[in-house]
Amino acid sequence: MPETTLFSRIIAGEIPADIVYRDEQVTAFKDIHPKAEVHILVVPNRPIVSVAASTDDDEQLMGHLIVAARRIAEQLGVSAAGYRLVINVGRGGGQEVPHLHLHLLAGPSLRGVGFPRHG
Ligand code: AMP
Repeated sequence: MPETTLFSRIIAGEIPADIVYRDEQVTAFKDIHPKAEVHILVVPNRPIVSVAASTDDDEQLMGHLIVAARRIAEQLGVSAAGYRLVINVGRGGGQEVPHLHLHLLAGPSLRGVGFPRHG
């Protein structure tokens, strides 16, 4: 487990970010390169590297990530229209920052864009 990650430094207030939600287990802030009108990262305060590096003992925290995402979606007023939750896992899964995080995406640009299909 890395001692310090980019996201740990944001959570500690060492790097500025637009924080939209915080509790004892997670911190959420706006993605610096948004892929949709609403793009929030929900990050465990404890720097677990990825879903693949998590353990069965992290079950409660993993559930809390989704509970926090639901609260943030309500807070931002996007619940009724709908939103997408994405977790990239490892390099092959598109994960760039080695600190587990859940992407909350919402907005008109998502409409009509479903899960990408091959073929
Ligand atoms: P992933 O590819 O799943 O690891 O996602 C990492 C996300 O972190 C990307 O969407 C980046 O735009 C975002 N990101 C990188 N640096 C920052 C930062 N300093 N503040 C907010 N978001 C960031």
